[in-house]
Amino acid sequence: MIMPPMAINLQFMDFKNSIPATSCLNDDGSYSIFINTRLTRERQTDAYLHELSHIMRLDFEKKHYDIDVVEKYAHQLNQLIG
Ligand SMILES: [Zn+2]
Repeated sequence: MIMPPMAINLQFMDFKNSIPATSCLNDDGSYSIFINTRLTRERQTDAYLHELSHIMRLDFEKKHYDIDVVEKYAHQLNQLIG
């Protein structure tokens, strides 16, 4: 499968000790991934791959899906590529 090119804006933010990362679909069709600066470099990479798996699986298009199911598949894909 050939993926179309996509723009991903990567930013590092201090989320304190809450979430490792989050991502969103922007109005212009690009994506933003926000990584917690408090993580180690290894955990930042894991968090980035996890958020990237959401983007690659088009999870932002699945507004009617159960979030637990979406997270389960994102973690499985992250383990395969991580
Ligand atoms: Zn997730």
